[in-house]
Amino acid sequence: MNQHYPFVNPPLPYAYDALEPYIDAKTMMLHHDRHLQTYVDNLNRILKNYPEYQSFSLEGLILYQSSLPSEIQIPVHNNAGGIYNHIFFFSNLKAPGSQKLSLPCSAYINSVFGSLDAFLDAFRKAALSVFGSGYAWLVMDATGRLNIITTANQDTPLQLNLRPLLNLDVWEHAYYLKHYNNRDDYITDWFHVVDWDRVSSSCYTGRAR
Ligand code: MN
Repeated sequence: MNQHYPFVNPPLPYAYDALEPYIDAKTMMLHHDRHLQTYVDNLNRILKNYPEYQSFSLEGLILYQSSLPSEIQIPVHNNAGGIYNHIFFFSNLKAPGSQKLSLPCSAYINSVFGSLDAFLDAFRKAALSVFGSGYAWLVMDATGRLNIITTANQDTPLQLNLRPLLNLDVWEHAYYLKHYNNRDDYITDWFHVVDWDRVSSSCYTGRAR
């Protein structure tokens, strides 16, 4: 996400209907073209009047929030976080297929959680525990240790010095059209469209791409 002002909404790396029947095309279109686009438009509108911060990357705006003028700290936090979290979410999905978690990520996950199924159970519990809007994440700390965390609203793991490997958007806009209020069914469907090859690759490099 090597972007700075003016930020752009990158196209989805697949067709809107690529995740059918697990995540529907209309949800993907609204989620990408309207929800993410709104965060992009808002952040550009805020920074338009602050040229001295226009060279900051998305990550820079999130990590160095406290160095921004106080009147834009919260709106920059929310909108830069919204862009970061959504681009990350969309980039870790792909059409349902046979790809699976490979080494070294599978070994890491087995050592921490016991098995992939145990990891998925723990991830589901975390995602279900988010009260209101937010995300569940698989993250790696500075020592290479894996953990599952949740964040509220558009907070990010970057602020906690954690590298994200995978996230699940559990804001209702991510699933309400198809799954109504059934977040658990949405989580089950989402497992089918996670790009496990990409998660494995992030485990290997120790950094999210
Ligand atoms: Mn969302």
